[in-house]
Amino acid sequence: MSNTEIEKVKCLIIGSGPAGYTAAIYAARADMKPIMYQGMQPGGQLTTTNEVENFPGYPEGITGPAMMLELEAQAKRFETDIRFGFITKVDFSGEIHKCWTESGHEIHAETVIISTGASAKYLGLPSEQKYLELGGGVSACAVCDGFFYRGHETVIVGAGDSACEEAHYLSKLCTKVTMLVRKEDFRASKIMADRVKNTPNISILYNTDTVEVLGEGDLVTGAKVKNSVTGVEQIIPCTGFFVAIGHKPNTDIFADYINLDETGYIKYEQPGTSKTNVAGVFVAGDAADKTYRQAITAAGTGCMAALDAERYLAAKGH
Ligand code: NDP
Repeated sequence: MSNTEIEKVKCLIIGSGPAGYTAAIYAARADMKPIMYQGMQPGGQLTTTNEVENFPGYPEGITGPAMMLELEAQAKRFETDIRFGFITKVDFSGEIHKCWTESGHEIHAETVIISTGASAKYLGLPSEQKYLELGGGVSACAVCDGFFYRGHETVIVGAGDSACEEAHYLSKLCTKVTMLVRKEDFRASKIMADRVKNTPNISILYNTDTVEVLGEGDLVTGAKVKNSVTGVEQIIPCTGFFVAIGHKPNTDIFADYINLDETGYIKYEQPGTSKTNVAGVFVAGDAADKTYRQAITAAGTGCMAALDAERYLAAKGH
């Protein structure tokens, strides 16, 4: 199809994590002929995870990238039109939802399912990025990867509710967890902060920044940290370096039309459904979820979005 030709579709799915693929499987099986734009990171956040052991149906576990290929194959089996590329602009002001790809191709969709996910924030240190890419000890998800550090010492950066929750989770698996808090106190709610403060194998270093993630070969061996008040540096031995400094939902392009909360997450118009404030536009997965953020919950909401889209079309007589 040429770029000047407007393409009309029943269902456009934006984003290709577990939410998007599950929505695609349901929408395709309901004969909505969905088109999916995979986005900047086909497969989503799970493609940066090694082993997924908590998704039901994989008793032996599966790697994140392999699982996403399976979901893609399942969506294709029902003839989802999966395209490499991304949506850069939308106009949700009318009954037909207009979307444009990065190459300027214009799509008019009766229903849109937003499954653009969220991206974990990292410190941005070259050493952190190196071990993240090598898969040898840097992670932004304790629930996903903590298990691999059972009986080991770990470090976790962050002082919000997520960092506290993840530090507490790690404390049950690891011999010692060192929390690096960059200011003199936590940002987390008092109850969450008190929980980590009262956990004997969690050690908290305040006013502390990470200088470098240390390692040998592919594996992390420690973190060099610096106290920002005294200037004193020290090395903390660890095999796992966790980063829990927040997530950024990938929702910027929808901000002019879709109601977002103060941190950019899409707000459900009607809790218990996938409906946004725009009729015919639905949301699934982490773009609207700052609490659970799991592949299985994303898949569940993907299913809801496809069913809601199908019912929306049925109510319009399609
Ligand atoms: P937040 O934005 O609340 O906290 C991010 C934390 O990371 C802050 O402590 C911040 O430090 C720290 N940080 C940011 N950048 C850096 C950096 N470069 N180096 C070191 N530290 C850094 O994110 P969360 O993911 O914790 O929480 C997001 C939302 O989700 C919140 O509203 C939270 O309450 C909610 N939530 C609720 C849960 C629950 O109730 N069970 C569980 C998890 C999340 P600083 O304080 O210095 O700015």
